[in-house]
Amino acid sequence: MATTAPTSDRPHKAAKRYIYAWGDGRAEGNAGMRDLLGGKGAGLAEMTSAGLPTPAGFTITTEACNDYFDNGERLPDGLWEDVLEAVKQVEASTAKGFGDPANPLLVSVRSGAKFSMPGMMDTVLNLGLNDQTVEGLIKLTGNERFGWDAYRRFIQMFGRIVMEVGGDRFEHSLDSTKAAEGAKQDTDLDATALQDLVSDFKAIVKADTGRDFPEDPYEQLNLAIKAVFASWFGKRARDYRKNQSIPDDLGTAVNVVTMVFGNMGDDSGTGVAFTRDPNTGEKVLFGEYLTNAQGEDVVAGIRTAPKISEMQTEMPEVYAEFQRIGQQLETHYRDVQDLEFTIERGRLYMLQTRAAKRTAAAAVRIAADMVEEGTITKEEAIARIEPAHVDQLLRDQFDAAGLAAATRIAKGLNASPGAAVGRAVFSADTAVEWVHRGEQVVLVRIETSPDDFHGMAVAQGILTARGGATSHAAVVARQIGKPCVAGCAELVIDYGSKTARSSDSGVSFKEGDEISLDGATGMVYLGAIPTVSARFEDQPELQKILGWADEIRRMGVWTNADKPEEAAQARGYGAEGIGLCRTEHMFREGERLEIVRDAILVASIATRAKARRAAGETLTADDEEAVDRFDTALGKLEKLQQGDFEGIFKAMDGLPVVVRLLDPPLHEFLPNLEEQLVKVTRAEATGGASEEDKELLATIKSLHEQNPMLGLRGCRLGLLFPDFVKIQTRAILNAQIAVKRAGGNPIAKIMIPLVGHANELKRTKELLEAEAKAVESKAGVEVDYKFGTMIEVPRGALTADEIAVDAAFFSFGTNDLTQMTFGYSRDDAEGGFLLKYIEDEILPANPFQTLDDAVVGLMKVAVDKGRATRPDIELGICGEHGGDPASIHKCEALGLDYVSCSPFRVPVARLAAAQAVLSNAAERDK
Ligand code: PEP
Ligand code: MG
Repeated sequence: MATTAPTSDRPHKAAKRYIYAWGDGRAEGNAGMRDLLGGKGAGLAEMTSAGLPTPAGFTITTEACNDYFDNGERLPDGLWEDVLEAVKQVEASTAKGFGDPANPLLVSVRSGAKFSMPGMMDTVLNLGLNDQTVEGLIKLTGNERFGWDAYRRFIQMFGRIVMEVGGDRFEHSLDSTKAAEGAKQDTDLDATALQDLVSDFKAIVKADTGRDFPEDPYEQLNLAIKAVFASWFGKRARDYRKNQSIPDDLGTAVNVVTMVFGNMGDDSGTGVAFTRDPNTGEKVLFGEYLTNAQGEDVVAGIRTAPKISEMQTEMPEVYAEFQRIGQQLETHYRDVQDLEFTIERGRLYMLQTRAAKRTAAAAVRIAADMVEEGTITKEEAIARIEPAHVDQLLRDQFDAAGLAAATRIAKGLNASPGAAVGRAVFSADTAVEWVHRGEQVVLVRIETSPDDFHGMAVAQGILTARGGATSHAAVVARQIGKPCVAGCAELVIDYGSKTARSSDSGVSFKEGDEISLDGATGMVYLGAIPTVSARFEDQPELQKILGWADEIRRMGVWTNADKPEEAAQARGYGAEGIGLCRTEHMFREGERLEIVRDAILVASIATRAKARRAAGETLTADDEEAVDRFDTALGKLEKLQQGDFEGIFKAMDGLPVVVRLLDPPLHEFLPNLEEQLVKVTRAEATGGASEEDKELLATIKSLHEQNPMLGLRGCRLGLLFPDFVKIQTRAILNAQIAVKRAGGNPIAKIMIPLVGHANELKRTKELLEAEAKAVESKAGVEVDYKFGTMIEVPRGALTADEIAVDAAFFSFGTNDLTQMTFGYSRDDAEGGFLLKYIEDEILPANPFQTLDDAVVGLMKVAVDKGRATRPDIELGICGEHGGDPASIHKCEALGLDYVSCSPFRVPVARLAAAQAVLSNAAERDK
């Protein structure tokens, strides 16, 4: 089929050309004119030019719609005269007359915007009927019932849509006629009853509007065109556009199309079909049709429609033609088509063709199959898959019917996708206890902290009332692949009574009640909704598509993983390295927390004592004891960490592993200040607190900060308490040596966090380089390691040229960089004002989810300055944005070498990185 430019310069009375007609195998428009003709008009024109059977008609352009509104809701001058000309052309092509009682032409007046907006705008069918033409229709068809049924449907539709009569008034009248006639269904009413309904309906119109139902077909047409334009700004349409980000100024076209009737007997019918199954992607004609029915009957489900395949036996020739046309349209548009058709007395008419909406599974299968069939290129296949599709395919999902019937409790932030079902528990310890006895649980917390990790790890999903996309709950849930709904502010959680209640819906639940949460939508439901599971290994088409994405993308895709199991999982998903191994979890697990606390309790005294000893002073016995205690604790920790690193290096053998040195403030490893204060005060009141508890309280107080996120953390901690990072460096090097001795190839990149001044990095690196060299020379083995830093403090970005002197690599910590650029606390903002900001469109998006352009601007400064000092500097991102498709596009434009994200986002990132290459190339070509 050829795509042609408009074939004729149609004469027009209006200042602009507003009309494009088709019929008799010729069309004035084509598929490339969707902006002007809308999807439906462009499709009808293209099908006509291709020689496919379409009913003649014409499109009034979207431009006319916009001018109609600019003109104070008046048709632009001359347009009506042009419509009359176009009607004449349709009359000629169909050999019927508009308003001619002997041989009436009836038309449908249909909306049709550039983007499909299913059911959001209005359409009027059977237009042109009046008391005279209905008689003509009856005579021509020899079917009195059909004629009166068409007429009453028309008055009902026109009355509701154009004359704004409440639809229920017609429905009541129809119901009472049915009751009086003893008719169960509309189809049980005979011609006389339908004729009576016509009079009743007209009386309703008159009573409701004070006007007679218009008998003049031209008046009907004029009013219907205006009504369809008006529906562009109807509430439904406006809401839909807002939701789908469709601009308001596109306007809708109006298509005036000759009516063809699928309800003219058993050799007639109508249906909707897809050229492939839109649920599975299987290459079979898929759809439904009804004999002796109009399109609205199929949509409304008045009768159960048989599968389209049954048409093969009922109307084999029409079926064969339809199959051939479907194939032709699919080949032409190079995509699966959603088709509407009508058969009038054995003759097939195509009414619409458009790209079919499809499920994630179908999208992937269709794209893969079409590449194999040679219909589309690999690049086109990649461009057609939505990142959300990949995400969906890797997550358990709720069964659609179960979801539809479920009781909603509340809605929060969609922090980590997937479907989770379990009994509600309100503490991490309870989660572990219940899971041990064989229950499945959902952990419900006001917010989570590192102390909750054990509960999160065993729960099916996590629900919090506070915190946003970079809150602890969200970050950890994504990393371990658990569904999470965070920041569900309407949920009032009471740990005391172990209950939660939504202040919006009023629905509450208590410990032990089953709840279901959908991390993709942020919805929380009561009860256990059945789920459908998904495994990457079982999805060869998805793997094929991602393999093609790998051929296209430029950036590497690494992962944020702290444990060997996570690293192995991510590698299975295609990760090419670890971009962020946060070592702090290694400080928290099991027995380690006690060891770490022991070290922290004496960290200050011991560190000062060591400095004095180094300066030649003799230490007191107390100091000696503190140093001893400190070194013993750190020695144990070093051994344990070495074991952890060995596991990770083995899992990522041959691939780079970025290990970040200790980052969080030390108080995070200690009990909460208030809790400890209460414990000691209570104990003092009832016989005295233990020395240990008092010592712990004193340490917690001494480490307390008003703004810990801006306090003693990251490299600052390492500079004040060097032993913490020294033992980490030794553990990394010794782990590498052990793995190398066993025949492995461990590659370490030691990352120093939160650098804002070049001297911070310089001093830390000097300290640690010496440590690393000492380990190597003691072992007599050299290993592959480099030092680099995170760029996550604005000053760091602005002075990246100075920082790059000592950094072999930069990794953008965009969580902190966003926090510090906006001045928003990442722990508080998302649960508080930020969501409101987004709702009110003060901000275009959540900057903790999608990189903000000002943050990108800072990154660009750092990229340029970093490369100026060190042209081969390796650049990556490890903030949460590394797994967000829109942010990945920005990283591609910045020229980063890799993105790093949680294991479960690796497949999405592979696709998005390839799409970024393609869209950047397309931008350049423009
Ligand atoms: C960051 O700040 O982007 C980052 C990855 O580090 P964290 O989230 O651990 O502060
Ligand atoms: Mg950070």
